[in-house]
Amino acid sequence: MIAVNPWLIAEPVAAVAAAGALAYAAFHPRSEIFGQHIHATNSAGKLAITFDDGPNPAITPQLLDLLEEYGARATFFLIGSFVRDAPDLARETIARGHSVGNHTEHHPNLFWLPPARIREELEDCNGAISELLGEPPRWFRPPFGLRNPWVISTANKLGMRAVMWTLLPGDWRAPSAEWLIPRFAPIASRAVQNSDRRGPFRENLSGDILCLHDGYHRHQNGDRRPTLKALQYWLPRWRDLGLKFVTIDEAVR
Ligand SMILES: [Zn+2]
Repeated sequence: MIAVNPWLIAEPVAAVAAAGALAYAAFHPRSEIFGQHIHATNSAGKLAITFDDGPNPAITPQLLDLLEEYGARATFFLIGSFVRDAPDLARETIARGHSVGNHTEHHPNLFWLPPARIREELEDCNGAISELLGEPPRWFRPPFGLRNPWVISTANKLGMRAVMWTLLPGDWRAPSAEWLIPRFAPIASRAVQNSDRRGPFRENLSGDILCLHDGYHRHQNGDRRPTLKALQYWLPRWRDLGLKFVTIDEAVR
């Protein structure tokens, strides 16, 4: 019989487990190991639609019109440098009743940045948004959803709460609306499950936060037509299920 040194097995296993735990802490939308955040609305009848990486002159104006058609309010996590490129579009987003949040100045991967650089990214974006809003935003979403021990605490120190999601359909890599539309389906399924005959929605259940993208973080005018088309498909269906489209402010109120 060959004696195997258990450390030869245990070490790689431990390393894989540690890497897995770190990935969970840094990326999983419900992991609060690196700080508390909002990851659902406070009622099953409330759907918070959120958009990252804008404002994007190629799609945001059409998106604002579509949302208005359904009386839908949403939350836009803006990139500071894009706000400086298209301030009128960011201003219009706010004027039409939507909430805006901080998505950093240049969309770096914050996981690898030291605390001082994280703070700079958040403060610069707050500067761009404050000029339009008249005050700093209250909401923050980390680029790529990635957190480290300093990301959420820095956002909190600047007066913001971090916002994650319940559903991330992957619209940034959608080859077509046909590919994307079925990936939104969990929202309607949950809405059906969470409603009953006595009332529109069962009490004490949380609702969805949907994470979509109206921009592309690497450059302006990214093509987000599948996102727009998928919403054209789902908004009337969600409305017919009784869902209310709310901003993050309304989602936690
Ligand atoms: Zn982003």
